[in-house]
Amino acid sequence: MEQVNGLFRAWRLLPPVGHRPPPDKDESSKNMDKRSELKKVRRLVVKIGSSLVCAQERLSLGRFRSFAGQLAKLRGRGLEVVLVSSGAVAAGVQKLGLTTRPTTVRLKQACASAGQVTLMSAWEKTLEAFHLKCAQILLTADDLADRRRFLNARNTIMSLVEMGVVPIINENDTVAVEELKVGDNDTLGSMVASLWDADLFINLTDLDGLYSSDPRKDAEAALIAEVERVDQKLLDSAGSGGPLGTGGMFTKVRAAGRLAERGMASLIANGLTRDVLERLLAGEPLGTFFAPSKKRRRAKKHWLAFATRPKGTIRLDAGAVKALVERGKSLLPSGVAAVEGLFQAGDVVTLTDGQNGRELGVGLANYSALEIQKIKGLKSAEIEAALGFSHSEEVIHRDNLVIFDQDG
Ligand code: GLU
Repeated sequence: MEQVNGLFRAWRLLPPVGHRPPPDKDESSKNMDKRSELKKVRRLVVKIGSSLVCAQERLSLGRFRSFAGQLAKLRGRGLEVVLVSSGAVAAGVQKLGLTTRPTTVRLKQACASAGQVTLMSAWEKTLEAFHLKCAQILLTADDLADRRRFLNARNTIMSLVEMGVVPIINENDTVAVEELKVGDNDTLGSMVASLWDADLFINLTDLDGLYSSDPRKDAEAALIAEVERVDQKLLDSAGSGGPLGTGGMFTKVRAAGRLAERGMASLIANGLTRDVLERLLAGEPLGTFFAPSKKRRRAKKHWLAFATRPKGTIRLDAGAVKALVERGKSLLPSGVAAVEGLFQAGDVVTLTDGQNGRELGVGLANYSALEIQKIKGLKSAEIEAALGFSHSEEVIHRDNLVIFDQDG
């Protein structure tokens, strides 16, 4: 069974409707595990942070022009590019005449709403100068967690790219309330990269990459050229956000870690470096390269681990903990110690160790909470007698189960 880090949550890749399926990463021969391989990148997601589209806290058309020119070069070489652009709130702050970034949800939403128009108009104007068309896609966490909406978003991205258009994605900040948000565009960018099955995610910011400590405070801080594995220690050492955007290094590193587990390479690099995109793709040692994990998680399990919102919890007894964590088994009714929440069959649930409450993973339940309540502790053969029916022997089948990396 695949082990994943419990800190990360990501995205499912569902079968496309009416489109040629992208190559499956699990079978893909494209191994972007070294910078030198990046020459082979065909499908690229670039995220541009708020600090890059603004200079002195004002939108800078010069910056947009520079990125538009770089994107046009890549498109000209036949690369497919999707852009994730922040800056709506920052643009709104400027447009509405506020002096600082708002802290209340209402004001942030108002700024995002006013600023998104300005942001897109800057992109449209500057891309047009390079004969590129763009399109706006605003997404929420719910859109990506919902199968139908997810498929629609994916198909729209694919259709646009096929027509040579650059999709520009941002979170729909105006409708997303704080608790239900993706929250930052580093995370959104990684979700889009997974959703679209990109070869590479380039996360551009105003720092040269990931440092050993905060370079704004520590003169000894050294740039890390390559990260083999994102673990808790690395996440703890990643700093917090700057004054303009939402994400700091933490969300950037977490996003890269999620994609590594999905089998995708990522880069964090300075968007102000001249021709940064072209140079990164040529394999130049700029920024921080996050190599994909050797063990590539299938798209469905990745979605299950990171994208879903668990509706309840199943607590396991000691035997089931061992069977699931160590032996990669399915969860049987006999291993259920307790059930919490009111979920339905087909809902995603969290699995915990009944003895210490430790989160073990997530899975798709074959039975509802009420039904599991009735069959917990029983043998599979006794399900029918307890419920009057039995459509599966397992409470959660191992194919629909993700166990988190227990070393954290
Ligand atoms: N969606 C926000 C905006 O456009 C940016 C979020 C972020 O900074 O990551 O302003």
